Amino acid sequence: MFYNLPTSLYCESDCILAHAGDIASFGKAAYIITGKSSSKRNGSLDDIVNVLKKYSIEFKIFDNVEENPSVENVMEAVAYCGDFAPDFVIGIGGGSPLDASKAVSLMLANIGSDSSLLYNGIKADYLPVVTVPTTCGTGSEITPYSVLTNHIQKTKSSIPHKIYPALALVDPVYLEAAPVNIIRNTAVDALGHLIESYIHSKATTLSRMFSEKGLRMWRNITSYIKNDSFTAKQYEELILASAIAGMAISHTGTSLPHRMSYHFTYQDSIPHGVAVGAFLAAYIMYSDNNEQKYVLETLGMSSCDELRNFIRSVTETITIPEADLHDCIEFVISNKSKVASCPYEVDYEIVKKMYEYSVIIK
Ligand code: NAP
Ligand code: FE
Repeated sequence: MFYNLPTSLYCESDCILAHAGDIASFGKAAYIITGKSSSKRNGSLDDIVNVLKKYSIEFKIFDNVEENPSVENVMEAVAYCGDFAPDFVIGIGGGSPLDASKAVSLMLANIGSDSSLLYNGIKADYLPVVTVPTTCGTGSEITPYSVLTNHIQKTKSSIPHKIYPALALVDPVYLEAAPVNIIRNTAVDALGHLIESYIHSKATTLSRMFSEKGLRMWRNITSYIKNDSFTAKQYEELILASAIAGMAISHTGTSLPHRMSYHFTYQDSIPHGVAVGAFLAAYIMYSDNNEQKYVLETLGMSSCDELRNFIRSVTETITIPEADLHDCIEFVISNKSKVASCPYEVDYEIVKKMYEYSVIIK
């Protein structure tokens, strides 16, 4: 059994300031990678900038990370860095800027390489990455994954490089600025990570330490996630559950619901958590009886139908044109490693049934 989680993580209020020395230990120049506006509104960017100024660390900011960042968007950030030579990269925001920051750190440690480096799978250096999450879903602050939109493949996929952030600073206060739909959608992504990691070919006693704990936390989260506002304690639980879910998938990876989600995000711009959430109940439905029972009971649910309806009530029901269905099923079953990640046998017919159960086909 293997265990490796090399990211230092603080999860507490004011952790950027409290651990400013840890940030400063990475060097004298930082490249900040963030989204267009949310980090300016929720205070996370100011908190980082204040620490960098206090320690006389030079910095440059790229604030144009798009949602579901593409390879081109990453290369835009690399080009914008220009002659500025950072010692480390700081990603601030939801999973999109955090994933982009990992890819940028790889490119900046290999100046002269073109974007093919991202997907070539040959082990390569990367600059240290500091992450500051401001959503409560991806766990990207602690995972080694960087999921990019790949317009050549017309889908999203993780780059093969495993880029563990060096330091994650998780402060629930930044969630307070997020609209309730972003909280709900991203929280459902974290639930997906917990379920997919628990029901996974690579699940071990150690990975399940995380998924089991996160699922127990989710029993409580189900009692308030549909509310229109949240308490400070609830924001803390949401962002911690998300980080714990990230610890779980760091060991196992995700499985079929993530693969099934990519079509909807790429074609229809359905938010990641919504697209993943649609397939969770179906994924559980075909799993081993004991695993299915454990997940449902831990969440306080009595059936897959109850879980599916609950997730639909937190997010939304999604639709697919009948003409796209065949290609979607092929896209799932053609990925041998994703199929292998599922601990039960899947074929064309099972995946078709999973779509029929999960989305509206018309
Ligand atoms: P996101 O795409 O990072 O952000 C979605 C939206 O939320 C953006 O408009 C963003 O605004 C806004 N936002 C972020 N934080 C906010 C806050 N505190 N207050 C108000 N608005 C806020 O969403 P995400 O769901 O966190 O990340 C999705 C990406 O992560 C996908 O590409 C997915 O594939 C990937 N992912 C990665 C992993 C992993 O392990 N690496 C796991 C699962 C998913 P701005 O653009 O202005 O910042
Ligand atoms: Fe995800």
